[in-house]
Amino acid sequence: MRKLELRHFRNLGIQELHFPPEGVAVVGDNAQGKTNLLEAIYYLESFRSFRGAGDVELAAFSEDVFHIRGSVDGSEPATVAAGFDRKTRSKKVTVDGNDAVRISAALGRLGAVVFSPSDAGLVSGGPGVRRRFLDIVLSLNRRGYLEALQEYRRTLAQRNAALRAGSGGPVPREWTSPWEDGLVESGARLTHMRGEWVSAWAEHFTRYYETISGGDSATVRYRPNLAPGGPRDGADEPVSAGSALREHFRDRLDECWERDSRVGGTGAGPHRDELLVVVSTGGGALPARAYGSGGQRRTAALALRLTEAATIRQQRGAEPILLVDDAFAELDAGRAGRLARLLAEEGTGQVILTVPREADVRLPGRSLPCWHIRKGVIAA
Ligand code: ATP
Ligand code: MG
Repeated sequence: MRKLELRHFRNLGIQELHFPPEGVAVVGDNAQGKTNLLEAIYYLESFRSFRGAGDVELAAFSEDVFHIRGSVDGSEPATVAAGFDRKTRSKKVTVDGNDAVRISAALGRLGAVVFSPSDAGLVSGGPGVRRRFLDIVLSLNRRGYLEALQEYRRTLAQRNAALRAGSGGPVPREWTSPWEDGLVESGARLTHMRGEWVSAWAEHFTRYYETISGGDSATVRYRPNLAPGGPRDGADEPVSAGSALREHFRDRLDECWERDSRVGGTGAGPHRDELLVVVSTGGGALPARAYGSGGQRRTAALALRLTEAATIRQQRGAEPILLVDDAFAELDAGRAGRLARLLAEEGTGQVILTVPREADVRLPGRSLPCWHIRKGVIAA
């Protein structure tokens, strides 16, 4: 991020910021706008709040419209802008001044990753949180994934609506079959691409985890609902692409038909996938969600984010922008030090770090200039 122009995003008012190429540490007390600043930057990557806030919440309380514009250098320099009007609920996105772009075509221009304290929820939350993580990483980094995801969601919603269209009793099989070609095609693609990503990056994840923890280990495993041996089976081998997977999905839809029509929902498919995070300690390998300590979960979440950053680095051939929101909070000194070293070693890309105290700026080998933020106003 070279230049960022803000207008009425949250409490940030009207400001123009020029970021040093190596990045900056933004220091400020609680509730001054540190996370808001990172949220604004990442909005230009994903066109939504990384905190899960709705667009209506992002415009300053006293305003209806917010605008953000940012320029990145990187391998493909671009100026990305976004605006939202609370009254009309309309969102507009432009890339290099071109307003004809669809949002889906403008995604991922920055190549940024957010590290947030709430990431612990990536590991402690339900499977849906991790599917969302996979969906974001793959939508921003794999051609065709977002289209498959949109097609899958559309056909799944239509099949489910058809299942519920009967008046209490089971609906005729022909009511749902029109949606199943699209469902099977897009669902098989999602399964295949998720499996491919996990097998390509699982070792990196483990290496990041071990480096930060300095002791115990962890792995990620993909548990596709469409695993050949059934949904409870592990698929440690990547799931085959192509017709075998599609046929398997069709068979599962047939098998589940009675249940599906009874409950009015589709039981088989990648909307039931799990990305299992397993920590290994003395006692063996156990799911981090249920058995991990707070520190182990946070470490696993950091390792997932570092893996996301590595995906961007490989995919775009450029360093990702790291948006680090107080990431050292709650790590013990050893882990915090090793994480800082890892961030410094991994790449030399831009780091935009927020911390409550200047003493918390710990990036060995790197001295970031300090900015201060108070009531949303940023000053060098
Ligand atoms: P912490 O260190 O506690 O995480 P922070 O500096 O990250 O704090 P932010 O979450 O960035 O704090 O900002 C919170 C502030 O932004 C709050 O004071 C809140 O009232 C204000 N705020 C949030 N949304 C809006 C909005 N739409 N308009 C104006 N102010 C807002
Ligand atoms: Mg914050």
